[in-house]
Amino acid sequence: MSKPSINWHERAAVLKIDGRPLIGGRRVEGLSGEQFDCISPINGKSLGLVSRCQAADVDAAVASARAAFDDGRWARRPPAARKRELLKFADLIMAAKEELALLETLDMGKPIQYSLSVDVPAAARCIAWYAEAVDKIYDEIAPTGPNALALIQREPMGVIGAIVPWNYPMIMSAWKLGPALAAGNSVVLKPSEKSPLTALRLAELALEAGLPEGVFNVVPGFGHEAGEALALHMDVDAIGFTGSTRVGRKMLEYAGRSNLKRVYNELGGKSAFLVFPDFDDLKRCAQTVAGSMFFNQGESCNAPSRVLVQEDIADEFIALVAAEAPKYQAGDPLDAGTVMGALVDEGQLRTVMGYIESGVTEGARVVAGAKQSRADSGGFFVEPTVFEARPQMKIAREEIFGPVMSVLRFKDEAEAVALANDSPYGLQASVWSSHIDRAHRVARALRAGTVHVNQYDEDDMTVPFGGYKQSGNGRDKSLHAFDKYTELKTTWLRIN
Ligand code: NAD
Repeated sequence: MSKPSINWHERAAVLKIDGRPLIGGRRVEGLSGEQFDCISPINGKSLGLVSRCQAADVDAAVASARAAFDDGRWARRPPAARKRELLKFADLIMAAKEELALLETLDMGKPIQYSLSVDVPAAARCIAWYAEAVDKIYDEIAPTGPNALALIQREPMGVIGAIVPWNYPMIMSAWKLGPALAAGNSVVLKPSEKSPLTALRLAELALEAGLPEGVFNVVPGFGHEAGEALALHMDVDAIGFTGSTRVGRKMLEYAGRSNLKRVYNELGGKSAFLVFPDFDDLKRCAQTVAGSMFFNQGESCNAPSRVLVQEDIADEFIALVAAEAPKYQAGDPLDAGTVMGALVDEGQLRTVMGYIESGVTEGARVVAGAKQSRADSGGFFVEPTVFEARPQMKIAREEIFGPVMSVLRFKDEAEAVALANDSPYGLQASVWSSHIDRAHRVARALRAGTVHVNQYDEDDMTVPFGGYKQSGNGRDKSLHAFDKYTELKTTWLRIN
């Protein structure tokens, strides 16, 4: 018998939220007593009050993380023991999947079907992946002469500050927590003020799983308050930051002004998607680019928002994309069938509509969408939008972070590569060609952290995620992420 479908509206109506920080293994009151309204982008109404943490709260969280690190209650447990607790944490995330999915959807507007099928399982898999990895990694012995033994070991770094955005709140948190906790660090997590709810629940689940008090703390609040205090803190060893390039620059400044803490930035993107005429299935290509562009309302750092098409096939391809766009009409995120939800807040709606206006003003051709939708809901929705644009237009150069795609024409391979690389960003790119030499040649020429060939978005925990140029440094995911949260120590022994 099939499971009865869930009435998410009924569940949302009785949901209780707790917006207090979690510090030292307990929910505590914010020290200043200040709070902010957590607004749902679905209808513009308040979900409840959340503590607006300030520097004093951050001090308390860092002190608790430091005490936990220094006494070794987590860092000095054998890796196999940390693995057990983290696997339990991952299991508890899955056990709470409906509650977490609902919080995520209410808080930042993505469709409930994806919170449930993508965000929650991806966060759990990430924690489990690092848990499984950590007791299978060996250190090194250097190839020295016979009178020495040189051990090269990784040690946990200490206290990690994690500052994350609102577009994938649980997944971005898990990408920091997984490697940082598995390696034995303590963490202070600052979620976005636009989506603080699931981070707070994750910390409760971690405690329930047996992670010791103080190892994982969460301080909700604003970037220029709690975020800045964390990034400037003298007792934080590294910052794992995901967010805009604008704030990524500040992270480097804060490190320079404080203790030169390591800063690992995962920043914005304007990923190029190159379509060559020798690709044999243009329809699949158009379906893929629309699916990846409009997933998560276009609020994905790696959204393929700059589509470059060879001029001989451009009209056919644009028509195929135009036919796909309406399938992603925004709907009520709590309805099980909705594929595109609400933008995160009114500010983001204004930003996206501002870009759409600039596209129109600069003479780009509207191929699909370009309007606000569902305004009577009180929420923040935009139609899936496709422009035919030219390379110098603002919409073709800047990260919009909404459901807006720009399609540009190119003549030949050299021009395609030059256009693709003419960007301050270098997060991802994609090449569509049935010609094996061309696919490899172009993939090599593209300056991006990940290049997809004849697909987009297919990946898993085994591969690194991160960008070239102003898309950041460091990498989330894969074993490479351990490099960010461990120090390399050499111990040189003399052998007589
Ligand atoms: P944002 O930079 O505005 O905020 C990110 C985080 O930084 C939030 O928690 C915010 O409160 C905090 N913050 C803001 N100002 C701060 C300050 N002065 N000091 C300290 N902390 C501060 O970004 P956003 O709007 O939340 O997220 C969207 C951006 O994130 C996009 O540019 C997107 O491309 C990027 N992103 C990148 C990746 C990646 O892996 N490369 C993944 C997801 C999102």
